[in-house]
Amino acid sequence: MRVTIKKTGINGEGIGYIDRTPVFIPQALVGEEVEIRIVERKNRYAIGEVLRVVKSSKNRIRPKCYIQNSCGGCPLMIARYPAQLEYKHDLLKQSLIKYAQIDPRKIKKIIPSDDVFGYRNQFKLPCAMENGELTSGLFMPNSNYFIDVKKCWVHEDGLERIRMDIMKVLNAHGLQSYQSHEKKGIRNLIVRGFNGIYQCTLVTGNDEIEGSVINDLMKIKGLYSLWQSIHTIKKTPEVFGHKMIHLAGETHLPLELDGMKLEISLRSFFQLNTKQAVKLYRTIASMVGDNKNLIVEAYSGIGAISLYLKDKTKEIIGIESIKDAVVNANKNAKLNNCEHISFICDDAANKLTYLSKKRNIDVLVVDPPRSGLDDAMLSCILKSKIKEIIYVSCNPATLGKNLAVLSSRYEVEKIQPVDMFPHTPHVETVVLLSHKKP
Ligand code: SAH
Repeated sequence: MRVTIKKTGINGEGIGYIDRTPVFIPQALVGEEVEIRIVERKNRYAIGEVLRVVKSSKNRIRPKCYIQNSCGGCPLMIARYPAQLEYKHDLLKQSLIKYAQIDPRKIKKIIPSDDVFGYRNQFKLPCAMENGELTSGLFMPNSNYFIDVKKCWVHEDGLERIRMDIMKVLNAHGLQSYQSHEKKGIRNLIVRGFNGIYQCTLVTGNDEIEGSVINDLMKIKGLYSLWQSIHTIKKTPEVFGHKMIHLAGETHLPLELDGMKLEISLRSFFQLNTKQAVKLYRTIASMVGDNKNLIVEAYSGIGAISLYLKDKTKEIIGIESIKDAVVNANKNAKLNNCEHISFICDDAANKLTYLSKKRNIDVLVVDPPRSGLDDAMLSCILKSKIKEIIYVSCNPATLGKNLAVLSSRYEVEKIQPVDMFPHTPHVETVVLLSHKKP
């Protein structure tokens, strides 16, 4: 069967049509003609597999990564970077038109990533035995098939080096991967780091890590902080376990952004592409005017956005539901002498409902998870008199749906996408909204 690819899908696949039924085809690019086999047929769509590219796109390149096709993390790696940016722009455009009928001319050109490879500052990889050796890698999407990842091109270079060094030490001491019936062994390896210093967490069963293993790990260049996390629950999307044990080194990881000092705990969220995070935060700051009285930042994480807004207002209140992140955020405000910034641990909608009744909020910044703003949050915003909103989104679909709701009271002023994740279909977008005149 031959199909022409008409557009890019939200998972980075190509979409073509057979008798008007959309067929989602991984590893195919817009404009290409491909010979396919249908691998799954559903009521309203089908999934195809490329057998042969009949007419190749001028944007197609050979991916740098040898497991690109099986890993699934970087579906756009088969296209040149400028073409990837076009696909992302198009994904955002499709979504904002479909859900919120937004004029696509309002969407600015996407800000590209400085580093196209080696940009990720963190990984959380599962571990398994391969030929008697403990390795870190990944499970193929929707399968139990494990792939030992010899090199990941989007991980920062130092992160990859330290991953190899850690695996060497664990193997030298004969450590094995997790066995669920014994509830023992190494389950995942988590490493995050900035500027050459790294924090490692070994996610294990009920193991006691020997002193000699800890000593050898701490000899690795750049290893700054070492933790263990006990995780014996069978199937859960959560990588960290219920119990955390500090094994050696420092407890927290420091980071400096535009001269500001930050501290991050193990479980706190931080943007994965540090250099692009700086561009994202500067973009947000550029959309906020000076001399404000009160700015509220909801979904504030470790408080980085608030720090970028510190000179624009008399007061900032951040709302975040994870306690560790709130502790980090308040410490970060203190580290940067910002007495006018404080963070509260609460549900965003809950606290905002209270604040918007009591106070006049000039600007609300929201940076929600992929699920977007929930109904309680949307209804609280619609009832409020908040003058301006900056919506930072990592999911064009929920952004589109939320903007459709907000459009009864708010005007979309600016839309600025930022590429945080080259080779993936993810699009980060900053939207400025202003309250419509009554
Ligand atoms: N703005 C931050 C983090 C954004 S990620 C940064 O740039 O680093 C989204 C954050 O929202 C996470 O820290 C998550 O813990 C938090 N969160 C998720 N649901 C929430 C809710 N209902 N109320 C408050 N915070 C929430």
